[in-house]
Amino acid sequence: MGGNVPVALPRRDAAGHPAPGKRPAAYHCRMTPVFDVTIIGGGLVGTSLAIALQHSGLAVALIEAAMPQVLSQSRDDERNLALARASTVALQTLGVWPRLMAVATPIERLHVSRVGEFGSLRLAAGEAGLAAFGAVVPARQLGQALQQELEMCTRIHRYMPAELAALETGADYASVRLHTPDGEVVLATRLLVGADGTASRVRALCGLGTEDVDYAQTLFACSLLPQRPLDGLAYERFSDSGPVALLPLAERRAGLVLSVPAGEAAATAALDDAAFLALAQQRFGWRAGRFSRPGRRSAHAIRRVVARSITAPRCVLVGNAAQTLHPIGAQGFNLGLRDALTLAQLLIDAERSGSDPGAAALLQRHAALRREDREGTMAFSDGLVRLACHPARLLSPLRSLGLLLLDGLPQAGAWVARRGMGFRGRPTAYAQGYLP
Ligand SMILES: Cc1cc2nc3c(=O)[nH]c(=O)nc-3n(C[C@H](O)[C@H](O)[C@H](O)COP(=O)(O)OP(=O)(O)OC[C@H]3O[C@@H](n4cnc5c(N)ncnc54)[C@H](O)[C@@H]3O)c2cc1C
Repeated sequence: MGGNVPVALPRRDAAGHPAPGKRPAAYHCRMTPVFDVTIIGGGLVGTSLAIALQHSGLAVALIEAAMPQVLSQSRDDERNLALARASTVALQTLGVWPRLMAVATPIERLHVSRVGEFGSLRLAAGEAGLAAFGAVVPARQLGQALQQELEMCTRIHRYMPAELAALETGADYASVRLHTPDGEVVLATRLLVGADGTASRVRALCGLGTEDVDYAQTLFACSLLPQRPLDGLAYERFSDSGPVALLPLAERRAGLVLSVPAGEAAATAALDDAAFLALAQQRFGWRAGRFSRPGRRSAHAIRRVVARSITAPRCVLVGNAAQTLHPIGAQGFNLGLRDALTLAQLLIDAERSGSDPGAAALLQRHAALRREDREGTMAFSDGLVRLACHPARLLSPLRSLGLLLLDGLPQAGAWVARRGMGFRGRPTAYAQGYLP
């Protein structure tokens, strides 16, 4: 670290900043492309951020290690994501939602219970005066919808496939070295955004440490046909072996998420369909009738990785790079999207006022705006993991009582529902249905 990229920007205002709104998609200095914002990682969160910045007037680059078709058509990803209402509204504002409407299934009711205990928590969106808490979409289709929208974002300069290899940060710019199939590319950027997932290279290159927990669990995701249609009902069922969730999908199908101890992952992966269905049935029970017609299975090892700080000079982390949570509370993408859109709003404001998008003050403001939501969501997710998966028998009556109490208290239910819908902290303009 320490070097600075010698760039001469084409147009500057009195304060020395490039003139707002008049820049091409990238400007150059002695053949080095120069960007205002460079996003490393074109996963669900990085792509959402790029789309949000399309009309910002900022020169934006998006760097992704995988080819777009690999990203959106991965055969190893059978996840179905529960999107909080704040996320579905934000995706609508970004113009992505119309591409998902045919495959999105509303979550109208929630049922949370624990194997062998008497309490359960039931929440109905209708009781809170809402049509739905959110919706379930297959992760692959969300990825495709984002890629299709990105195709329309002609102002976003894409490097795909290209992999971040090295980073050098100076006072005014960060210099980024990429490996591409055509050789090495170097570019300069005023802000580098790490949206590069759990094993973030941006985070490592910036020297940002993490707190890690290996849950020693593997989650299997697949779709199946329950005998009784879920009709908008999402189940979360806890047991000593870990959680099982059943989410409503289109065409009467359901998305199963089944966790097994890591030591049993290989044996579970090797089960044939009939044996896997029997395991799912034994773990979930018979509330939705007999399970049949399972789809492909994907397996996901579960770790919690949280960055000790989400900012470094000229750099900020969003999404799984900032925090990777246990999927039990269905928070990861929802939280990452809120990271991305809070940042987008700050960057758009900075561009309008002609200020530096990588300024330390902007990064501090971002971290401060994200604090309550990130800490609250992480505490919620950790609490759920402890409460739901802790095998101590002593906890059981308390847990059952807690679920029953929440079930009987409309305000408590509304409180849980509001947080579950993603309206934590200060909602972004996008989550309120308008562009900043
Ligand atoms: C089983 C399961 C169920 C889940 N269910 C839910 C749910 O119901 N609701 C919810 O909100 N969340 C859920 N999540 C969490 C959610 O999937 C993640 O939080 C979200 O996908 C993270 O997106 P991301 O873009 O931050 O990271 P990623 O999806 O990991 O994307 C990172 C991208 O960066 C790229 N990259 C990495 N390194 C480099 C590099 N050096 N150079 C260039 N590119 C690079 C990668 O190729 C990748 O495309 C679930 C997760 C799992 C495992």
